[in-house]
Amino acid sequence: MIYFDNAATTRTDPQVLGAMLPYLQDEFGNPSSVYQLASRARAGISYAREQVASYIGASEGEIIFTGSGSESDNYAIKGVAWALADKGKHIITSGIEHHAVLDACGGLQKQGYEVTALDPDEYGVVAAERVAEAIRDDTILVSIMHSNNEIGTMQPIAEIGAICKQRGVIFHTDAVQSVGKVPLNVDELNVDLLAMSAHKIYGPKGVGALYVRKGTKLTRLIDGGGQEMRRRAGTENVAGIVGMGKAVELLRERGEQDMQRIARLTGQVIEGVVEKVPYCRLTGHPEKRLPNIASFVIRYIEGEGMLLSLDLYGICASSGSACTSGSLDPSHVLLATGCSHEVAHGSLRVSLGRDNTQADVDILLAALPGFVERLRAMSPLWEDAKKKGLVS
Ligand SMILES: *Cc1c(COP(=O)(O)O)cnc(C)c1O
Repeated sequence: MIYFDNAATTRTDPQVLGAMLPYLQDEFGNPSSVYQLASRARAGISYAREQVASYIGASEGEIIFTGSGSESDNYAIKGVAWALADKGKHIITSGIEHHAVLDACGGLQKQGYEVTALDPDEYGVVAAERVAEAIRDDTILVSIMHSNNEIGTMQPIAEIGAICKQRGVIFHTDAVQSVGKVPLNVDELNVDLLAMSAHKIYGPKGVGALYVRKGTKLTRLIDGGGQEMRRRAGTENVAGIVGMGKAVELLRERGEQDMQRIARLTGQVIEGVVEKVPYCRLTGHPEKRLPNIASFVIRYIEGEGMLLSLDLYGICASSGSACTSGSLDPSHVLLATGCSHEVAHGSLRVSLGRDNTQADVDILLAALPGFVERLRAMSPLWEDAKKKGLVS
């Protein structure tokens, strides 16, 4: 099997699993209890918090562990919106956010909040000036993702953050895809809130973290006990949290070296596909993009058909986001960048990770052009384009 879907999830690193196992076995104490068994679980969480905090230039008290990247996004957005409802009810986001952000904003709209979703340019970039223009007196929150999970485009977050800071508006960024791919420092980025997820960085599923800048008011999502500095109730997922800490530690140790190699391989995928597959283009920004995502639209085929062909050949890839695959709706991200429905249906995302090798890339590039040709031979879209003289 060749796994090219690292933007959907990653394989848990064996060292991460190793760090987690004791907390699933002997160290099973409830961190809120008083005896030594419990304090060891508490220490495990505290160490993980330190690992995550220092990795992004935050202090320990600013990291809240959650149940997922989605929860972190929901908490940031609803938490701020509810806490600052007296101040205003206007929120700014973009049309290419992950559904965790878009739908959290949609939910708030039903509660009487007003949401401005900015359109990106054709490369998926949301210009900082657009954000500046959209800020009003009653704007309480701006939420723009650090990098896009489908097309890999990175946003001018530091610039947007500086504008928000100057205008006194809270700024959240969904950095789930960026962690471990590019350096992240919450002060340099001028962010007040930043969402992360463990399973995108070779950690376990079902754990996320939210950075909350000291002094940022948030109404909590989950009421109950006093866990996570009273900001998220519920007995902690100790093993998961420890695993996230370990995953971040591994990024610190080997992330940069891994990423240099991954970036080289990704570059080969981009060049190779664009060169070998006719009527195909790269989506997202040509330079301001994550070093591990190669994303394309391939004309006159259905992305789903291509994924099936690749799967039969043992290659896992994706057509946009994991959430929209399996439904017939084309990607909202591609549509927002100006793709037509027809073109957006031919999307392919190849996202690389730590385990990918040169051989993986060679196999993909050798196989893909033939698959595309065969699918086109059966495609009414291709037939039609031929009749119209659009292709040869
Ligand atoms: C995967 C992802 C999420 C959601 O994270 P989960 O931990 O799977 O809930 C949010 N935003 C982006 C950009 C993602 O890629």
